[in-house]
Amino acid sequence: MTELLYQTDSYLQEFDAKVTSTLTAERAVVLDHTAFYPGGGGQPYDFGTLTVDGATYPVNKVKKQGDDVLHYLGGDLPVPSAGSASHGTVDWTRRYQLMRTHTALHVLCGTVFRDYGALVTGGDMEPLKGRMDFEFERMRGELVRDIEAAVNKEVAQAHEIRVKILPREEAFQIPDLIRTKINLLPEGIMQVRTVEIVGLDLQADGGTHVHNTSEVGAIRVVDYKSKGAINKRIYIEVV
Ligand SMILES: [Zn+2]
Repeated sequence: MTELLYQTDSYLQEFDAKVTSTLTAERAVVLDHTAFYPGGGGQPYDFGTLTVDGATYPVNKVKKQGDDVLHYLGGDLPVPSAGSASHGTVDWTRRYQLMRTHTALHVLCGTVFRDYGALVTGGDMEPLKGRMDFEFERMRGELVRDIEAAVNKEVAQAHEIRVKILPREEAFQIPDLIRTKINLLPEGIMQVRTVEIVGLDLQADGGTHVHNTSEVGAIRVVDYKSKGAINKRIYIEVV
């Protein structure tokens, strides 16, 4: 089982960890804890490096498998054995861009829900660009500039972002979480991580976010597509 350090400290860039098991054929190691984000909720996995006994391996891919996080190592040095001490370093430039982008998408989501009552059905991101899908029948091209201005106003208002890990029963009593389909969480999940943009948005979310919306910078709505009468897709860039 890998402890997920990024869940409580998204700004952690380096960490010491023990290799708890090794998948030699796949060149992957499991660590006792990690700051590497393994992907999920539309946010891609991190890149970085892992150093063991003076040898530095590129981390090319990170994946969650059950309660373990697998770190896939590049290069051709032998894969470190279980029990080794290691030092991990996250590619911070990329990760911080993803944090700004992820928070920007939540600001978009909160603003569109507040102003138009439109619910999110999905989303995806790369560093500094992303898209969100909404059930948003009234969406049309003329709204693009209004949405962009409303989102940038919220970003500039410097909302604090709070992350909490709550017992399932407590999270299920928060009305704002119901609209993000928290009721679909599998029964075995006893704790729910919530990400709140204070005054704007509250979601069950596993991703990494900045501490304050002012860190996002500004967003541009670069495109929008109609995926039918109800489903609309909005594309943003973070600048
Ligand atoms: Zn999210």
